[in-house]
Amino acid sequence: IAKRWNSTGKSIFSEMTALSNLHNAVNLGQGFPDFYGPTALLDAISKEVLSCHNQYAPSHGEAALRKEISYFVESTTGVIYDPETEITVTCGASEAIFCAINAFVNPGDRVLVFEPAFDIYYQAIANAGGEVVPVRLHAPDTPVGVRGGGWSIDWSEFDAACSQGFSVAIFNSPHNPTGKVFSEEEIDRIASKILKKNAIVLSDEVYENMVYSPARHVSLCTLPKIQHLVVRISSAAKTFGFTGLKTGWVCAPAYLTDGVRLVHQATVFCTSPYTQLGLARVMENKEWFQNYLLSQNESYLKKRNFLKSILERAGFLVHNSEGTFFLTASYENLAGDISDIIYTKQLVETYKVTTIPLSAFYKQAPKSLPWIRFAFCKKEETLQSVADLLLNS
Ligand code: GLN
Repeated sequence: IAKRWNSTGKSIFSEMTALSNLHNAVNLGQGFPDFYGPTALLDAISKEVLSCHNQYAPSHGEAALRKEISYFVESTTGVIYDPETEITVTCGASEAIFCAINAFVNPGDRVLVFEPAFDIYYQAIANAGGEVVPVRLHAPDTPVGVRGGGWSIDWSEFDAACSQGFSVAIFNSPHNPTGKVFSEEEIDRIASKILKKNAIVLSDEVYENMVYSPARHVSLCTLPKIQHLVVRISSAAKTFGFTGLKTGWVCAPAYLTDGVRLVHQATVFCTSPYTQLGLARVMENKEWFQNYLLSQNESYLKKRNFLKSILERAGFLVHNSEGTFFLTASYENLAGDISDIIYTKQLVETYKVTTIPLSAFYKQAPKSLPWIRFAFCKKEETLQSVADLLLNS
């Protein structure tokens, strides 16, 4: 294996899912719904499978889908992306992240990352030969955190990290794994720094449709001062609750889209036309799509509240989650001196509940870290079974 992959191990998500299956545990680890997404979408994809669209799609995506993406992004952000030159369909957001990082990071370049962070950022940066400049988010139960609230930024640490210089930044809001939705003020402050460095920013917004009031999603692309630097990444899989769709998209000014398209062409060339055309068909039905998103959001909010109450009764310190389908919690009061890797294994083996240790989301994890991530994109009965396992065993 080439040296640039030395720092990459097996994905924690695959590892915890395998362990979960082995112990027949309830899997709140890897972020995938255990309920069905919209059948209208499956019907639409099936129809496309049975029609004649059975050859390669255009490399940057089917025109019908790019048109609907452009409409959707404009209706949610007010920003217009030209489907011909500024929108690219990828094999999920993961491929989009890989392409964008490899398009813009040269060996030795510094890349600003807010951590904890989705682990594939680190893997793609390592592949490109870049260097991570971390900015830590602080959990509410730490001396620097905001007690009783969500994860926060220490601005003097942020300024110190930025002073090392960076040419690319990765920004993710709503944020995996913490569930933090960055406020308008935080986003403006971060954008100013990016502008000052003239850095390209990859804005991972795959959880854009899962935000719980009073939090509000502000897309980086809506800030006119840095619009020309923003590469915006979305995911149909997250939006429609079918992670198997493996379809995502990138919206960026044409000069940045050119770079993303080059790497995309060299990695997968194109994604399945059936899925793309099926997605276009359902997104075309604006009223249906809008209603679907509203009811999905309502249902996720209930799930979040339910899981939070179970975990609090079980003795966890639950951090505020304002978006995504994740929440983090501290087990400090339950088994404070055990590492998160050991604790998550014990939870699977003893309680039959699977979670993800937060240390997996750091380039170099802080020493004492009693935090784990729970995914709540699960049926009510699944969450109820977690209550039975944690509270009655
Ligand atoms: N994004 C998903 C999560 O954070 C995992 C995706 C994957 O398994 N690569 O759980």
